[in-house]
Amino acid sequence: MVGLGRDFGPVRALADVTMSVAPGEIVALLGPSGSGKSTLLRICAGLEEATAGRLLFGGADQAGIPPHQRDVALVFQHYALYPHLSALDNLTLALRYGRKMPKAQAVARARETLDMLGIGALARRRPAQMSGGQRQRVAIGRALARRARVVLLDEPMSGLDAKLRVELRVEIVALLRRLGSTALFVTHDQAEAMAVGDRVAVLDAGRLEQLDTPDEIYDRPASRFVATFVGSPP
Ligand code: ADP
Ligand code: MG
Repeated sequence: MVGLGRDFGPVRALADVTMSVAPGEIVALLGPSGSGKSTLLRICAGLEEATAGRLLFGGADQAGIPPHQRDVALVFQHYALYPHLSALDNLTLALRYGRKMPKAQAVARARETLDMLGIGALARRRPAQMSGGQRQRVAIGRALARRARVVLLDEPMSGLDAKLRVELRVEIVALLRRLGSTALFVTHDQAEAMAVGDRVAVLDAGRLEQLDTPDEIYDRPASRFVATFVGSPP
């Protein structure tokens, strides 16, 4: 992304963000509430238009390409599974109608994905028959089942308790690695960003303050804001 910006009327949600993410890399987007993290993801997903700058995937300008034609998967903060469908059918439906995949292939892919997330045994359960953590795994599985090249995760574990968050984030990262996905992982939790990201992008008020490895961010914060936010020693 080059000079990416987004205004909502008088509100500058994102200003002049330039970064490039390598294939297979996981970048954590870290910033306080309102810093523009979700706006950046939504632009990448095609759900929001940038008002300045350009977004390129592998050199191809994404302007005007609708969400379903982009090679991206989005894991939302507030996931919505179909309550009347089993875990397996939630994944299968997305593949058959979103990706026009033949039924047998979609079922096989859905099963494989649920297995990778450790919930293969729950394939026949409906969301109401699962715990919060299990439902979240299904929602993540539904996004990852597409095997999109770029995976966008917007605070995918908010609402879970601390122990479950750590457990799930380890699994998500392992899965992203296994699939070779390029990922942007949004969080407002500095420890989570440091644990998940190959590099961490720190946002403040729509601006990219620093993009570096977790060690660099911690040892050499580029601004007072970054130092305070990640809790570096003075
Ligand atoms: P974050 O995800 O980091 O909390 P957001 O990207 O959601 O931040 O929001 C960044 C800024 O843009 C905030 O000031 C927010 O109020 C504003 N904003 C986001 N979406 C809209 C919208 N659809 N209309 C108006 N303002 C918006
Ligand atoms: Mg947000």
